[in-house]
Amino acid sequence: MPMSQSFKDRLFPVLETITGHYRTPFHIYDEAGIRKTGSSLKAAFAGIDRFREYYAVKALPNPRILAIMKDMGFGFDCSSIAELRLSRQIGGRGEDIMYTSNNTSLEEFLEAANDGGSVLNLDDISLIAKVPEMQELICFRYNPGPRRTGNGIIGNPVESKYGVSHDQILDAYRQAQARGAKRFGIHTMLASNELNYTYMVQTADMLLELIAEISAELGIAFEFINIGGGLGIPYQPGAAELDLITMGKAITAHFKSFRQVHDYEPALFMESGRYITGPHGVLVTKAINRKDIYRTYIGVDASMSALMRPGMYGAYHHIEVLGKETATEQEIVDVVGSLCENNDKFAVQRELPKIVDGDILIIQDTGAHGSAMGFNYNGNLRPKELLLGEDGKVELIRRAEQVEDYFATLRFEPDLLSL
Ligand SMILES: *Cc1c(COP(=O)(O)O)cnc(C)c1O
Repeated sequence: MPMSQSFKDRLFPVLETITGHYRTPFHIYDEAGIRKTGSSLKAAFAGIDRFREYYAVKALPNPRILAIMKDMGFGFDCSSIAELRLSRQIGGRGEDIMYTSNNTSLEEFLEAANDGGSVLNLDDISLIAKVPEMQELICFRYNPGPRRTGNGIIGNPVESKYGVSHDQILDAYRQAQARGAKRFGIHTMLASNELNYTYMVQTADMLLELIAEISAELGIAFEFINIGGGLGIPYQPGAAELDLITMGKAITAHFKSFRQVHDYEPALFMESGRYITGPHGVLVTKAINRKDIYRTYIGVDASMSALMRPGMYGAYHHIEVLGKETATEQEIVDVVGSLCENNDKFAVQRELPKIVDGDILIIQDTGAHGSAMGFNYNGNLRPKELLLGEDGKVELIRRAEQVEDYFATLRFEPDLLSL
């Protein structure tokens, strides 16, 4: 199922009023839906002593959304200076923030240590010596290499640039310990948009086994394992949802067995982005042109600068046409933006109700990796973001980019180097 029936029931009847007031295009997010998913995630892991979700900020980096995460008790997973500042702006401090960068620069380390710090999740053994100051609590990102096969989007761990290899992992903790680290965690992220819950169970299992080995070898205890993000959502109508409840039960059972043998259990951390907000956002855009050549093209007032997934991965995003949800007259069209790039298409050869200029299209599942992946190629500007609040009010939470924003980086002090 793409967007939930509940979101649809609350949005569609008022969508014309919203488009009349704010003008298309825009992304609109559903606070009630986000909170519901957040609660079900917490409920699924309630049997584990300490569970915490660190929302992957890159999925939807908007302070208003991050404030909802904070309110639900979630932390933040950051990978850049801007994401750190966003998280701190809404009050994230210290162990509320995981800093999971890769190819990390000194500037990033310094920023991560600012303002009460963050939990450093180091991506490589060489970074131990490069951290300006070793923290008490340190985490490494583990890459199991040939021990695991990756999933579709992330790929084979052997070819992935992330993480510390199996051969190096023991040494990584030993070296961190020698530099003064006293508390430890471990992290991995092997999947993206994975709908098969057993993959995440195997990941939790793999990390529990690994920390037992490392603990035995080095005499250290682990405070947490972090199984990363990558929980999938069904983009296609009729696709089965991830079985969160069974996944929670299976992982909880592994934690309890671990406790029986080792007399303690670590905390379980997760850093989902897509699963939490993905289904709870839609891109609302208006049909402005129709073109019949070898194919029929429906031109809309948004482009792939607002949603890159279809163009970049050929990803499916379900589309409905307001007021024509049950229309029987269908035709096969490509839904396109205005970029001079032939992959600027939201849908290719899709059967949709017959669309005329002025129709409102609802492009679904844009609540994660949607607006955030936007860009300015071809001078295209990213649309505004709205929030449908739990109170039923609609709030502007990011204004649309304007041409002046595009020109902002062209205003600078002259700097000419004569050679
Ligand atoms: C992108 C990313 C996530 C979030 O991935 P989702 O597929 O949105 O759950 C989590 N952790 C890391 C390190 C990431 O790079």
